[in-house]
Amino acid sequence: MRKVPFFDYPQHWLRDREDMLSIIDKTASQGGFIMQEDLELFEKELADYVNCSFSLGVANATDAMEIYLQALGVGHGDEIIISAHTMLATASAVVMAGAKPVPVDIGEDNLICSESIEKSINQNTVAIMPTQLNGRTCDMENIQHLTEKHSLLLVEDSAQALGSKFKGKSAGTFGSAGCISFFPAKVVGCFGDAGSILTNDESLFNKMYAIRDHGRDKDGEVICWGRNSRLDNIQAAILRSKLDSYDEVISKRRLVATIYDERLNEINEIKLPPGPNDSEHHFDIYQNYEIEAEDRDSLKEYLEKNNVGTLIQWGGKAINHFKNLGFDQNLPNTKRFFDNCLMLPMNIFIDDDDVHYVCDKIIEFYRR
Ligand SMILES: *Cc1c(COP(=O)(O)O)cnc(C)c1O
Repeated sequence: MRKVPFFDYPQHWLRDREDMLSIIDKTASQGGFIMQEDLELFEKELADYVNCSFSLGVANATDAMEIYLQALGVGHGDEIIISAHTMLATASAVVMAGAKPVPVDIGEDNLICSESIEKSINQNTVAIMPTQLNGRTCDMENIQHLTEKHSLLLVEDSAQALGSKFKGKSAGTFGSAGCISFFPAKVVGCFGDAGSILTNDESLFNKMYAIRDHGRDKDGEVICWGRNSRLDNIQAAILRSKLDSYDEVISKRRLVATIYDERLNEINEIKLPPGPNDSEHHFDIYQNYEIEAEDRDSLKEYLEKNNVGTLIQWGGKAINHFKNLGFDQNLPNTKRFFDNCLMLPMNIFIDDDDVHYVCDKIIEFYRR
């Protein structure tokens, strides 16, 4: 029987094993481990790729958010509005910066909803941090309208959205700063943890540059308190090669989404995410393909029995569902979504036949 795992971690390495070994060997043989040329080149190439002024390599995207919030001076008494449908990291970065995360409801497209944002703005609100979820960028015009109207900072959790665009502008480049994650299962994944910060603000960049490396600026002068959140040079060398072929990866993911979209459209029991060509303003890179499914748990079980791996995002919990962390908001769209949401296999290891097999099994489940 065919097997379609949700994500094939060994394959992530084995697919390009020879190339990766030679990159690692070359970089390590030069002794280039920390803050070396590959990191600097990767930072330039990534900034060019998303068309922004600066990128800064850091240890992971969670650190990226903590670092830009610290550099922006966010702190005690401040509230930051975030989506309820995001990774816990978005909220924890706000807490680590000393501020309070305020999760709000999602809209039709499963992204943070502008009306919910506006209802939650009060005199303590200092920033809006939307999550560019599943590889799709929010309607940033609506959100920028709110940050301007209420004089708020705009920062993005764009961890999942490298290369995603709204009206031709890349995720992570709309506000003061954005983050990118290179966790292995992300669209561009390295072999461990890594992340980047994107910004167009030079003075903010210089602050973050220092915070990343014990408060040291480019001349080695200590200018503030910092930490160690450097991106390893070997990972940077690997990421440079991955970025080279990233456009092909995006095309492949959009093709998988097209097949899901065409085959599953007819199933009334399922609500699909927006398709690749549904809107001329959104360019979606499909980090994930997340559906809402009636009788979700039985569908998941049925697919498992047929060797199809699926995943419920964030362990099935939205931010406002973490009661142990003090959240208690009742957000109806988020609640409905989390009762039914399921992610189907979406990666570059699966072929068209695999995707059709997944669709066959879903259709079979509802038509039995
Ligand atoms: C993966 C992810 C993060 C965290 O990224 P790390 O690099 O693992 O720290 C944050 N936010 C979202 C939306 C993510 O998907």
